[in-house]
Amino acid sequence: MSTIVTRIPPSPTGHFHIGTARAALFNYLFARHHGGRIVFRSEDTDRTRSKREYEDEIIEGLHWLGMEWDEFSRQSENAPRHRELLEKLVAEGKAYVSAEPAKDAPERTVEVVRLKNPGKAITFTDLVRGDITFDTTELGDFVIARSLGDPLYHFAVVVDDMDASVTHVIRGEDHISNTPRQILIQEALGAPRPAYAHIPLILDEKRAKLSKRSGATAVTDYRNEGFLPEALVNYLALLGWSPGDDREDFSLAELVATFSLEGVQKSGAAWSREKLLSVNQRWMRKLSDADFLTHLDVGRNSSYMPEERLAKTVPLLKERAQTFGEARDLLSGELACLFTAPTPSLDTLRAKEPADRPSLTKTALEGILAPLESLPDGVSVEAVKDTLMPLADAEETKGKGGRGAVLWPLRYALSGQERSPDPFTLITILGKGESRDRIRTALAILG
Ligand code: GLU
Repeated sequence: MSTIVTRIPPSPTGHFHIGTARAALFNYLFARHHGGRIVFRSEDTDRTRSKREYEDEIIEGLHWLGMEWDEFSRQSENAPRHRELLEKLVAEGKAYVSAEPAKDAPERTVEVVRLKNPGKAITFTDLVRGDITFDTTELGDFVIARSLGDPLYHFAVVVDDMDASVTHVIRGEDHISNTPRQILIQEALGAPRPAYAHIPLILDEKRAKLSKRSGATAVTDYRNEGFLPEALVNYLALLGWSPGDDREDFSLAELVATFSLEGVQKSGAAWSREKLLSVNQRWMRKLSDADFLTHLDVGRNSSYMPEERLAKTVPLLKERAQTFGEARDLLSGELACLFTAPTPSLDTLRAKEPADRPSLTKTALEGILAPLESLPDGVSVEAVKDTLMPLADAEETKGKGGRGAVLWPLRYALSGQERSPDPFTLITILGKGESRDRIRTALAILG
């Protein structure tokens, strides 16, 4: 059997779109699964819209996702070859130069190249969708180049795929209608026909084609938000492909081992941010605490967030955050109190104090100090809870105020925030000394 060759042919005319990433991934997986080769081709022939910075962004993004390839090319660099084959088709009478008024400026004459269309039905077998037949008569002698030196996409793509010995073209379903034209060009060139697999479009939550209006569409946006590449790859693979069972967790290597075109569905694949978030959280939770901190990327500011205390927040962050962006927001929001001593307000400290027991808050906080002191250093949340919870429980039996009369001022004294983790977690992370200092500050405010 000849080697399988797939291609990753993005157009560098915009940011690295998740649709481009998903098409690249399927080509990557199929080739690697079969021990084949992958050709990367920057389709940069649209001179006005193509930008080198977009090409860099796409390449960098693909590498970030874990993909690499065996060959790199730029379509613009194949221009001499495109011209050679255009001239050959013209010389053989399979195409002709046609002088006609320019479409956008009819007063000007242009010399486009048109393919002599034999006008027949073209049937190709799509590996996802089965046999597809098109009557190409109505295409007429369609244009394949704006001039001998300026081929259109259809022509360039066919020549480049032929020269790279591409065996499988796996691309978005929006290219199905381009396929008959491309097959006619192949036949004129005497090029072998690759196998085609058109993968379903990515639809947004309203079942329209995913676009900027539906939310972030650039891989870079997800990267900046703090998604892990492993999670994005895992999620993108499941957009239109299924392993045939209900497994949902796949590393890139596991995908390579499992992927097949038979698992690709025909119907549109619905983008779900919620699902992506949960996949990302699963991957975040798999990280060791040290790796988690590296991704968090805030540990470097050591005077502001001591490394050691930051490390203690990892379990909390793993529990609450679905992206590293959310984790960073937690550190500067709900968890900020772990790094900056609070200045609690008198009113909020006493917010849960029953009107007829005006010294309850003070007594409750004073009552915490001795049991707190009895705790050994470095204990678990459970141990802190077992020691301190009975004090709150005792208050419960006394009626008015209840547990909250102890737990609220304690939590608020420790955090200075109306929202924060529970007091036992705070004490575990802050440690005994810092907790004691914060309770003393609150007592001073209570007077
Ligand atoms: N450059 C085209 C695109 O990004 C490639 C289409 C194809 O795979 O033939 O849509």
